Formats: sequence, structure tokens, C-alpha cells
Amino acid sequence: MKRIALLGATGSIGRQALEIIEAHPELELCAAASGSQQVDGLAPLTQVGGDLTELLERANPDLVLNAVVGFAGLPATLWALERGVDLALANKESLVAGGELALAARNRGGGRLLPVDSEHSALFQLLEGRGLEEVHSLVLTGSGGPFRGRTRDELADVTVEQALAHPTWRMGQKITVDSATLANKGLELIEAHFLFGLPYERIEVVLQPTSIVHSLVRLRDGATLAHLGYPDMRVPISYALTYPERADTPLAPLAVTSLTLEFAEPDGGTFPLLALAREAGEKGGTYPCAFNAANEVAVAAFLAGRLPFLAIAEAVADALAHADGAPARDVEELLEADAAARRLVEQGLSVA
Ligand code: NAD
Ligand code: MG
Repeated sequence: MKRIALLGATGSIGRQALEIIEAHPELELCAAASGSQQVDGLAPLTQVGGDLTELLERANPDLVLNAVVGFAGLPATLWALERGVDLALANKESLVAGGELALAARNRGGGRLLPVDSEHSALFQLLEGRGLEEVHSLVLTGSGGPFRGRTRDELADVTVEQALAHPTWRMGQKITVDSATLANKGLELIEAHFLFGLPYERIEVVLQPTSIVHSLVRLRDGATLAHLGYPDMRVPISYALTYPERADTPLAPLAVTSLTLEFAEPDGGTFPLLALAREAGEKGGTYPCAFNAANEVAVAAFLAGRLPFLAIAEAVADALAHADGAPARDVEELLEADAAARRLVEQGLSVA
């Protein structure tokens, strides 16, 4: 029996996780939390909002599935890593913002960090049992989002509705907008750096519009391994929850002969958030935290109709230009870096 605490139970990942847990008698939901929607009766222990680590203390789970959206997921990520409780991580923002603190906590705690993000789950599977000295580079794939192929001019007045119409994945609003700006691929680049320990120059991002190839690993002998499957988050969720076993899912087997796979380079001029994330990652310190914080505020403003689509990247670039980027020695310093970047974007919004 594996006792699971599910944080973000009412979201896109959370609901799919409930389906997986339901289907497997050896998985037991011991706690469930959401930000604001009601979760009564979903699990023996539930919580809406507040300090999620209080719920985790009471629940004492074997595994935490962190499917909260945004930096709000940080305390739960650190709680699990520090205690050596297995962490299935969908909440990429906490690892991007707090990567160094999170890895230090994992080294102390000694538990597993199991990625739920589909690309990182694929990379985790491709890299398993392999020494990093065998690896030449990682290739992170992305669909390119709903605006792939458009010019900057064509993006000037896109609507929230258009940004939310993702071609291959059905997800929560924040990550869907991030997919349209390519900020999501930027966050995933930093996420991959922290998860797999490779320098940024050895992580490439390419577009694969149908989201069938979930990522690739180039090995030093010239072989390249790829992970293929239909775009369906139940696969990486199931993998993380049932690891190290592999359980059945309701998915159809991949119909290989009906596939044609195309790859393309991302258009960095039209979608500057990818390069901004790479730059923030390479600079290190709290630059990734500032990138994430500014992006969260700007995306919320876009969703609320307060900021045009192209201004999301401008707000993030501005926040990064003003951030001091000094490494955070503890959580308090990380919270300060997060708050400073948020303030900067909010000030810009109130002037506009
Ligand atoms: P969502 O918006 O659908 O759901 C978010 C969940 O988090 C909700 O249950 C919400 O109530 C909860 N929440 C928000 N703030 C909270 C707080 N302060 N305290 C407790 N709970 C809070 O988002 P989603 O699409 O399910 O994404 C969740 C995370 O998974 C994100 O980090 C996202 O980047 C990542 N992810 C999602 C997908 C996907 O297919 N949806 C794929 C890869 C990664
Ligand atoms: Mg992903």
C-alpha cells in the first residue's frame, strides 16, 4: 500500500491523478488539498488553502504528488525533499525558483524526486541506470503552442481565448498561456537542468508539433534514444505514482504506422521568453526565481485582460534586468527574491 497526499487535487493534473489512484488498489489517497475549491470527502484529511505542510505533517504520506500551480507549491516540495518522502513533482515552478535549495534538501532527505512533467518523465526513463558521462545532451521537445508559425505582428492583439486553445494538451490556464509564450519550455529547460544535472549548453529545445515525441537523449556513442507516446498526462502521472513498477493505463497502444514526425527550431525572435529563461538559468542565483515570479504575475494580468500578450515577455525581461540575482542562502531570501520580482511587475501594471 502506498499512501499518497495529493496537492492541487481539483486541477487538471489533480483530477487525472485521482483517476489513476482510483484504478489501483495499492494506491491510497490519504490527504487532498486545493487552493480554493472544496475537497471535502475526497480523502480522510483535506485542506483548502493555507499552509500545506500542516496537512502533510498530519497525513504522514509515503508519497506527495505536488500538482499545485505556481510558486505556492514551494513549501510542499521542500517539505517532502527534506524528509525523504518521495515527491512526484508536477509543480515545476517550485524547482525552477528554488532549485538549489530543493536539491540540497533532497541530498539531506534522500527520497526520490519523480518528475511528472511529460518531457522530464520521458528523460528520467531514458536516463535511468545510465551515468551522466554516457550522455552527450538532452533534447527537450515542445509543441510550439497555439501560435507556432506566427509573426510578432500577428501576436499583438491575440485574445485570452486564443491563447488558451492549445493544439495538443488540455491543461490548467497558467501552463496553457505559458505554452503559448514558450515560457513553459523555458521553465522546463531550468527544470531539466536541476533534475538531471546537465549544464544548459547540453540541453537543447526543439519543436515537435504533434507532441508524440516527449524528449530525446543523445548518447556519446552517437545513439539517440527517444520516448514516444500519445500526449496524455495519465502516463507520466501513473509512472510517478507506481514507480518503480509500471502499471496499466486505459491508453491505446501507439499506432506507429500512422505517424509522421516533424521537428523544428523554436522561433526565438517571436517567443523571447525561451531565451530569457535560458539566460536566467545560466546566470543562476535567484534569476530563475525572478523569471518565474515575474511570469506568474504577468500571466495573471494577461488572463485578467490587464496586459497584452506580447507584454508578458516585456514584463519578465524588465524584472530580470532589475533583479539582483544574488543566490538565496535560505527560504526567506528566496521568498524575498520572489516578492521583489512580483512587486516590480505589479508596479509596471499600475502605471500602465
Ligand atoms: P490547474 O490550474 O488545473 O490546477 C492547479 C491546482 O492547484 C488546483 O487544484 C488549485 O486549487 C491548486 N492550488 C492553486 N494554488 C494553491 C495554493 N496556494 N494552495 C493549494 N492549492 C493550490 O493546474 P494544472 O494544469 O493541473 O497544473 C498544475 C502543475 O502541474 C503546474 O505547475 C503545471 O505547470 C504542472 N503541469 C501540468 C500539466 C498539465 O497537463 N496540466 C503538465 C505538466 C506540468
Ligand atoms: Mg511539459
